[in-house]
Amino acid sequence: MTGTGSIGACLERGARRLAEAGIPDARREARLILAHALGIEPVTVLGYPERPVDDADRYEELIARRAAREPLSHLTGRREFWSLEFEVTSTTLDPRADSETLVEAVLAAVPDYHAPLSIVDFGTGTGCLLLALLSEFPNATGLGVDIAEETLAVARRNAGRLGFADRAAFAIGNWGESLTGQFDLIVGNPPYIPAGEIAVLQREVTDYEPRRALDGGEDGLDAYRRLGPDIFRILRPGGIAALEFGLGQGTAVERLMLAEGLIAQGFSRDLAGHDRCLTLVKR
Ligand code: GLN
Repeated sequence: MTGTGSIGACLERGARRLAEAGIPDARREARLILAHALGIEPVTVLGYPERPVDDADRYEELIARRAAREPLSHLTGRREFWSLEFEVTSTTLDPRADSETLVEAVLAAVPDYHAPLSIVDFGTGTGCLLLALLSEFPNATGLGVDIAEETLAVARRNAGRLGFADRAAFAIGNWGESLTGQFDLIVGNPPYIPAGEIAVLQREVTDYEPRRALDGGEDGLDAYRRLGPDIFRILRPGGIAALEFGLGQGTAVERLMLAEGLIAQGFSRDLAGHDRCLTLVKR
């Protein structure tokens, strides 16, 4: 057990260490880590700085891991998306606020929220896109497809914990390869970072997030080349597809999808104002 002091002293110590490690929001992160380590609410950390801390070992360990650039979400095992709390692990891509753009695009494109839609989410990861959509469409059912069994286990736990187990199924698959049938709505946030650019992303991403969820091949578009024919084959006529993509990739993704016979409905912008999602229909 390391010597400890008060909540306030722990917070100061941790915030300084994170700031020295170059973490931008060091104080806030130290507060969240301390709350997590002590099993108390972050607001309690602010409100009771004088309260003694008996055992700060776990806190110090988590601060050291964060200083080594492990993402906060991996320390807490949680990340919020679409106001839902998702379990995340090192095998899943962290849900990002930018991907909420896709959920909004789908909400704008689907005329009837009560329709019994069948949804496919390619590269489901934590299940965040699929489960966010199921939270908005009460009569929809969905299938999350992922290449990795350990990732699907996380998605299944998220579906269970968030109350969607009866409407969400998960299957291992290489994009749409083994899927048959017709679906009303297809979504996906495939890997789209050009392979040569992964090394220059934030260390939190490069060192800790699953490469298979990031690496889109030489130009970042490999997954879209695979997905185009699959989407056209399993999307029912009149159905909608929405795909996330990376910076500056909109026109290229659109071209790939049009070449398969899909019809572009338009782009949607993320919080930074960049085109982030393409909505498509099949006639
Ligand atoms: N948006 C992620 C990032 O920039 C990449 C996710 C992806 O490749 N689909 O870190």
